[in-house]
Amino acid sequence: MSFADLGLSDEVLKAVSDAGYTDPTPIQEQAIPYVLMGRDILGCAQTGTGKTAGFTLPMIDILASGRARARMPRTLILEPTRELAAQVAENFEVYGKYHSLAKALIIGGSSMGDQVKILDRGVDVLIATPGRLLDLFERGGLLLNDVKILVIDEADRMLDMGFIPDVEKIVSVIPKIRQTLFFSATMPNEIRRLADAFLMNPKEISVSPPASTGENISQNLVMVDHQNKRDLDGLHKAKRDMLRKLIGSEKVKNALIFCNRKRDVDILHKTLKRHGFNSATLHGDMSQPARTETMERFKADKITLLVCSDVAARGLDINDLSHVFNYDVPLHAEDYVHRIGRTGRAGRLGRAFTLAWREDKKYIDAIQHLTGKAIPIFNADKKAAAKPEKKPAEKEPAEKVATKSKPKQAVGDDKPRKATRPVKAKKPKKAEQPKKAAEYHKADRDVDSGKPVRGMGDHVPAFLSNGSK
Ligand code: AMP
Repeated sequence: MSFADLGLSDEVLKAVSDAGYTDPTPIQEQAIPYVLMGRDILGCAQTGTGKTAGFTLPMIDILASGRARARMPRTLILEPTRELAAQVAENFEVYGKYHSLAKALIIGGSSMGDQVKILDRGVDVLIATPGRLLDLFERGGLLLNDVKILVIDEADRMLDMGFIPDVEKIVSVIPKIRQTLFFSATMPNEIRRLADAFLMNPKEISVSPPASTGENISQNLVMVDHQNKRDLDGLHKAKRDMLRKLIGSEKVKNALIFCNRKRDVDILHKTLKRHGFNSATLHGDMSQPARTETMERFKADKITLLVCSDVAARGLDINDLSHVFNYDVPLHAEDYVHRIGRTGRAGRLGRAFTLAWREDKKYIDAIQHLTGKAIPIFNADKKAAAKPEKKPAEKEPAEKVATKSKPKQAVGDDKPRKATRPVKAKKPKKAEQPKKAAEYHKADRDVDSGKPVRGMGDHVPAFLSNGSK
């Protein structure tokens, strides 16, 4: 089936062809004709399947007729994170380039002033995170009684982040006669219940996850040798050593490195920097402008390693990401699929490495159960020994050196690498102090919601709790 068979306008087809897409993805094939017909959709699909275009393309055509009124958006798209919201807005730019639709983005962490001015003039599409939208609504900044299409994206993530009460409130003030498009990567009972409440006779569409556990991602499990449950510092040091060793032995063009806790994001980033790697962080404590700037630099290849938390990096669309490293095994198996699905996109090859130690077994088992595949064990020592060490090119900028050269010092040494260290950075002494489970736990709140978030929060594994006693 081609895009031309889906009932889209010539303008949208031209924008799609300008974007370089030749064929619709399965979710686009299935969803677009039904959205154009005005049907509700219950879509079980993840990011990476092309679901954003699956709802934005037909929405653009539906919106082409009619006009928005001041403060009364005609369509509303709810996204769990600012990054996803911003990405959807970008999609409207790309696919709506031959239309003149007005859109506003209401997300936490950035000043609302300009967006509210745009809203005042009338918008066709409002893309928002639930908390910030409700805030604005309750202050009388907008009216929702002209919303004709409601999109609830990543519903399971909304649930994890504690946004469902906000979503329910928002839905309660939107007209009952509307079209609702509801997407979720998974369909636990709670999400089903919401879908039943929000949707009328929906067309159910389910597409298999993207190639996240498919052929074009090579998955690797790297066992870190550490025995003492009480020595968490030792464990983290061994993990950092192993990570650097892996980065040194792999051809890393660019990589996301996932940590379960924000605190570890910072610590890991600092030690990577001390070792001369070109790293930056992305997590929920950063201001929106800082997050946007970091993402732009990463996408422009000015940053090689981005150490991040699940929430901040969820759904990020990065072209040609060569590697994903799981510094921590995700505590929820679905997060594993989301994390490694950042690489190996659009038919490219990707490599994913997950560092684990013996106490992570139950999480690894859960991942293997979910994906139905064993993650092959990767022997880092063998790999590193097989590859001769390359000298970094003399004049190469530090950014490039960071991933092209191998760490100079012996594995197990957490000290700076003099040869490639670009600036003399202070030792982050405090961060390296022994940590207690309670300390890990304290940092595990997402500032967007102030609530615990999945994969970084309340699920402190037994070994951490034991270690603190
Ligand atoms: P999404 O699942 O919406 O996050 O989309 C994942 C990626 O697929 C994005 O980079 C899109 O630009 C891209 N994409 C969406 N539809 C298509 C298509 N029909 N052909 C090729 N790439 C696509």
